[in-house]
Amino acid sequence: MRKKIVAGNWKMNTTLQEGVALAQGLKEALAGKKVNCDVVVCTPFISVASVVEAVKGSVIGVGAENCADHDKGAYTGEVSASMVASTGAKYVILGHSERRQYYGETNEMLTTKVGLALENGLTPIFCVGEVKEERENGTFKAVIEGQMKALYGLSKEDFSKLVIAYEPVWAIGTGLTATSDQAEEVHAFIRESIAKVYGKEVAEETSILYGGSCKGSNAPELFAQPDIDGGLIGGAALKVDTFMPIIEAWK
Ligand code: PEP
Repeated sequence: MRKKIVAGNWKMNTTLQEGVALAQGLKEALAGKKVNCDVVVCTPFISVASVVEAVKGSVIGVGAENCADHDKGAYTGEVSASMVASTGAKYVILGHSERRQYYGETNEMLTTKVGLALENGLTPIFCVGEVKEERENGTFKAVIEGQMKALYGLSKEDFSKLVIAYEPVWAIGTGLTATSDQAEEVHAFIRESIAKVYGKEVAEETSILYGGSCKGSNAPELFAQPDIDGGLIGGAALKVDTFMPIIEAWK
């Protein structure tokens, strides 16, 4: 049975103190509750180590939102996968559309980043998704297939360690959510694409999360789809009160 996951992406929000308080609040809200999915928070680099400490003894896993495409050296301002792993974090979001769009991340860079994350024992949450124009002109599946190709040089064993997130760019932070049918269509397409490269068994075991204005009100319908295994959550992950109902959507 593949894992169900609800992961928060805090983006460039929260100071160190605010981040620790948010993590502590989430830990308290989850304490003693039966949780039916893995819960992850991916935080700004500055908070990762402190959030790892703050959530100790809880079910919450911690991740970063990016890592460098180099292992170490003269790359001022960058943070490597080994540095992320040294905090005790277990996850890293890679290929988020904001990284692709604003920081020019290419498939080649992402292949390198995924490799470094895996070498350092991190689970990449690898994002794919089309922009509005690609949805409207019908090229979205080809675009997503092209993004997935960044991963297809991995061995079967390494690919099996990944989590994929389908995030239609037109739905991120816009309040526009893909309908559950639109999301399911793409999730099933991604699973088929994985099956063609790695076989049905690997495809069936790969968790594919939906991201894009997911909230407590639409999570139950999205998560009821057969190929949607959870969510990558931006805005609604910034408050315990809005994040918890998404976690609780896994009954
Ligand atoms: C995201 O950035 O990963 C995301 C899904 O954001 P939001 O939930 O705010 O649309």
